[in-house]
Amino acid sequence: MHELGIANSVLTAVRTEMRRHPGAIPLKVGVRVGELAGVNPDALEFSFLSIISGTPWERLKLDIQTKTREHRCSSCRATFPVIDYRVACPLCGSSQTECVSGDELEVAYLELEES
Ligand SMILES: [Zn+2]
Repeated sequence: MHELGIANSVLTAVRTEMRRHPGAIPLKVGVRVGELAGVNPDALEFSFLSIISGTPWERLKLDIQTKTREHRCSSCRATFPVIDYRVACPLCGSSQTECVSGDELEVAYLELEES
């Protein structure tokens, strides 16, 4: 279950950010997860909640934003979402397309309360 490791790195990122805001309380952290990152959002949230349970950050919420896979066409440069593994360009029909997003795994934002 690598979601536990991911939950830990999210908290490490939050900790690093909080050092720049002494005395503030983190309220909500947004995480962007691409569908190709192989992360189960439910498992990630469960891991996250179990780590912060009983700590001063118990109220911290996790906002998981899932991103669909997108490809870009090499012929007409269009970018389009890939549905059901159909990777051909829907505009010109070219099969020369490349993956441009969908494997993200990053902290998108952090909401905090300054004291
Ligand atoms: Zn195209």
